[in-house]
Amino acid sequence: MQTRILDGKRVAEEIKAEVSEELQKLHRQNLVPGLAAVLVGENPASRVYVGSKTHTCKKLGMHSETIELPSETTTDKLLEVIDRLNRADEIDGILVQLPLPDHIKEEIILSAVHPDKDVDGFHPENVGKLCSGKVGLAPCTPLGIMYLLKKEEITIKGAEAVVVGRSNIVGKPMALLLLHQHATVTLCHSRTRDLAAVCRRADILVAAVGRPALLTRDYLKQGVVVIDVGQNRIETPEEGIHLFGEDSERITKIKEKGYTLVGDVHPRDPIGVAAAVTPVPGGVGPLTIAQLMRNTVTACCMRRGLKVPGSRFQVSGYRLKVGG
Ligand code: NDP
Repeated sequence: MQTRILDGKRVAEEIKAEVSEELQKLHRQNLVPGLAAVLVGENPASRVYVGSKTHTCKKLGMHSETIELPSETTTDKLLEVIDRLNRADEIDGILVQLPLPDHIKEEIILSAVHPDKDVDGFHPENVGKLCSGKVGLAPCTPLGIMYLLKKEEITIKGAEAVVVGRSNIVGKPMALLLLHQHATVTLCHSRTRDLAAVCRRADILVAAVGRPALLTRDYLKQGVVVIDVGQNRIETPEEGIHLFGEDSERITKIKEKGYTLVGDVHPRDPIGVAAAVTPVPGGVGPLTIAQLMRNTVTACCMRRGLKVPGSRFQVSGYRLKVGG
């Protein structure tokens, strides 16, 4: 079987082009959507993520602010910052970069972000709306994946969808979005019995686990569409050779850069078995940031009572504009 590689970068560019069009319309009304990113502590990966989010914002013509706080910041201090951002008119979206330092309770902080500015879709009010299929803000990674599936014309209605991983950020919202689009959904986790057999039922298999190359050929049905959310660092050439083969340019990358990324699905196993697969890197990753831009525009429009852009297609109230 010929396996299609789903190019997340290209689809992310399409999302950004649509966002840019919407921004131009808003600019004509003297509106500039604003995104504030709050970064607590010195996590280098978090710094990179926040950097690329603010860079994309600026490139598209959105207002962006980064609030950097030291790792010893107290919960009260962080709540004060969020309160200020909740009240700032120029800010439409607030994202608190996770993970937070251990002494800060994530739940308290995420619930303090005003639901109208909750562009990550983590506030309990938005979680409830997603669950019951009402209009609200939903997490960016699963929304980006839904967009990719639609754009690539992958049939969701009636499909057997298996999601591996039940986090609040990816797995659970992913399962709900697929369910709202009429897939038959199975949500798996670390206690699932015979995971391989469950995965082999999937027409659409979403892996969001955080375990490098956990899902091997044995987990894949012929013709499955594989969406690999995992982003795991491989740091030794020995591990790299095992996963990518001796001649792979990935081995050079490990030697030069110190690491390469691998998903939760074995990088070579879907080829020839799956109908389509998202690569790592270059699959789901770029979609997340692009969707964050869209969520910020959506939040800006909803907060001001304007028509939310994108009307051809809806995912349980979450409008995603898809061509055709
Ligand atoms: P979490 O650690 O929050 O959740 C992992 C989930 O995987 C849990 O539900 C856990 O089960 C399950 N799990 C762990 N081990 C196994 C196993 N052996 N078999 C079956 N299930 C297992 O991770 P996230 O959801 O935050 O992230 C998952 C991956 O996606 C990570 O690699 C992360 O880097 C990546 N990611 C990528 C993004 C992107 O933009 N591309 C965005 C967000 C995340 P249990 O609940 O039972 O513990």
